[in-house]
Amino acid sequence: MSGAGVTGRFAPTPSGRLHLGNIACALLAYLSARSTGGRFLLRIEDLDPPRCPRRLAAQAMEDLRFLGFDWDEPPLYQSERAAVYERALSQLDAQGALYPCFCSRAELHASAAPNAGDTQFVYSGACAQLTAAQRMERAKSRRPATRVRVPDELLTFDDGLYGRVTENLARDCGDFIVRRSDGLFGYQLAVVVDDALSGVTEVVRGRDILSSTPRQIYLQRLLGLPTPRYVHIPLMLDDEGRRLAKRDGDLDLTTLSRAMSPQAILGMLAFSLGVLEENRPATLDELIRIFDWRRVPTQDVRLRLPEGLRRDAP
Ligand code: GLU
Repeated sequence: MSGAGVTGRFAPTPSGRLHLGNIACALLAYLSARSTGGRFLLRIEDLDPPRCPRRLAAQAMEDLRFLGFDWDEPPLYQSERAAVYERALSQLDAQGALYPCFCSRAELHASAAPNAGDTQFVYSGACAQLTAAQRMERAKSRRPATRVRVPDELLTFDDGLYGRVTENLARDCGDFIVRRSDGLFGYQLAVVVDDALSGVTEVVRGRDILSSTPRQIYLQRLLGLPTPRYVHIPLMLDDEGRRLAKRDGDLDLTTLSRAMSPQAILGMLAFSLGVLEENRPATLDELIRIFDWRRVPTQDVRLRLPEGLRRDAP
């Protein structure tokens, strides 16, 4: 059956220690792939190397191994793939899909209309209108970012958990950045290129990234790349209902492993996510056998932490 299933992946950005939200994502991606006899890949999303030192990538892998995860190929480091992203950018450029954007942060804020989601701003498209002469003039004082033009039309996909998602890129997001003015490649571009070149057929990740998916599908279409199946998963909340984040510095594996075995951590996560019916230790092999997406909820999940690890613990 091996090879017949999906190819899944876990793609952490190691700018801090993995927390239980990241591990929940790794767990569901892993169980989904392995329960079909499929492959599981690891990709280190260190596009911004100073923010993502190798030591944190090594720590992430150590944490994953501690819990029993394995992956099928050596991990891919995005920091080593500039040539691949350059090629994709040239392909987009040859289609006339790109333009340089000289807007400063302040200009972006001043001209942008907040979209329905309000945290994201819709780019006004100001720099799309510049003439060649204006571009040359502005390039004297500022290094541009590179944006991709988006169409004013609906883009739809079916998420494995959240169902049909529809977005109009022009209205909801605007032309977006594929290369920053400091030269770093955009997340959307790198993810799309890497998922396709690694043969990933299923992307499991937090629902905080759901709104990026239409942009990624749009890039896949421009680049002639296949669209994987997407399953966005609920966010993990602590016992006070707050979203877990790397910067909290708590509930990472140093704290957890003092109080719990790897199987107890996996069991607690699997129980919190509906995969396991009771809160008890479990191995990955056992969870692979019982895994069923239909039991995973769409509403955000409160972790069922043992007493000693709760925030209100003395
Ligand atoms: N690197 C992203 C993160 O750590 C995940 C990207 C993805 O799964 O597509 O949040």
